[in-house]
Amino acid sequence: MGAGTVIPAENRSHAGYLVRGAALDILFDIGAGTISRLFAIGKSYRDIDLIVISHLHADHVLDLISLLQANNATPGWARETRLQILGCKGLKDFVQNILSLFDGTAPEHYLLEIIELEVGRHDFPDFILETAKTGHTSNSLAFRLEMENRIIVYTGDATERDELVFLSRQADVLICECSFLAGFETTDHLTADQCGRLAQRAGVQHLVLTHLYPNTTSVEATAQANSQFDGIVTVARDGSTLDV
Ligand SMILES: [Zn+2]
Ligand SMILES: [Zn+2]
Repeated sequence: MGAGTVIPAENRSHAGYLVRGAALDILFDIGAGTISRLFAIGKSYRDIDLIVISHLHADHVLDLISLLQANNATPGWARETRLQILGCKGLKDFVQNILSLFDGTAPEHYLLEIIELEVGRHDFPDFILETAKTGHTSNSLAFRLEMENRIIVYTGDATERDELVFLSRQADVLICECSFLAGFETTDHLTADQCGRLAQRAGVQHLVLTHLYPNTTSVEATAQANSQFDGIVTVARDGSTLDV
């Protein structure tokens, strides 16, 4: 839904990625504007029952506040189905703070279930979610989703590390943060060449670059990733879709 960062850029809004399955849809991260962009594709916030949060930076979580209020404040409708939020350490306190800071966000007619995920594999009824630490923040996680015989990996915000190679092994799609171009000095993000190297080492099919900062151009990022990776590289924009 949103393929950008916290910095405003054309066609690159705050982070949000909707995985649509036959039985279940899962929203990964929910930065500002995500529920409006869901509305634009005909997906109502009313039907979001499962959200996965990579870390607690504003560009990955801000619309959680709006969603929680909308669940109570929709004329003629109130959420009654459970809302489940899975994610990084600190998520429970974070949501509790939202509920006490923002009027009208505390659930009125439904169960809000928050689960902080340990590093490892977690079995759910319709999917498996495997997590790894990314080194972006002390608690930031990447996710490997195995669902309906497909493997999708989402790095969240990340750094280059072996855990992510393992997590991304043989993925059909790797949705990889690509904040900067090669040579940019960073200790808490990935550069385009590192994204390509990660995809190559992990043997993924399709590398999707996202979370590009405004000066990170699609053409150069693609070329730099391609210089390290034999598979398909595409660059996400707000509203990009992909069949897996
Ligand atoms: Zn971010
Ligand atoms: Zn971040």
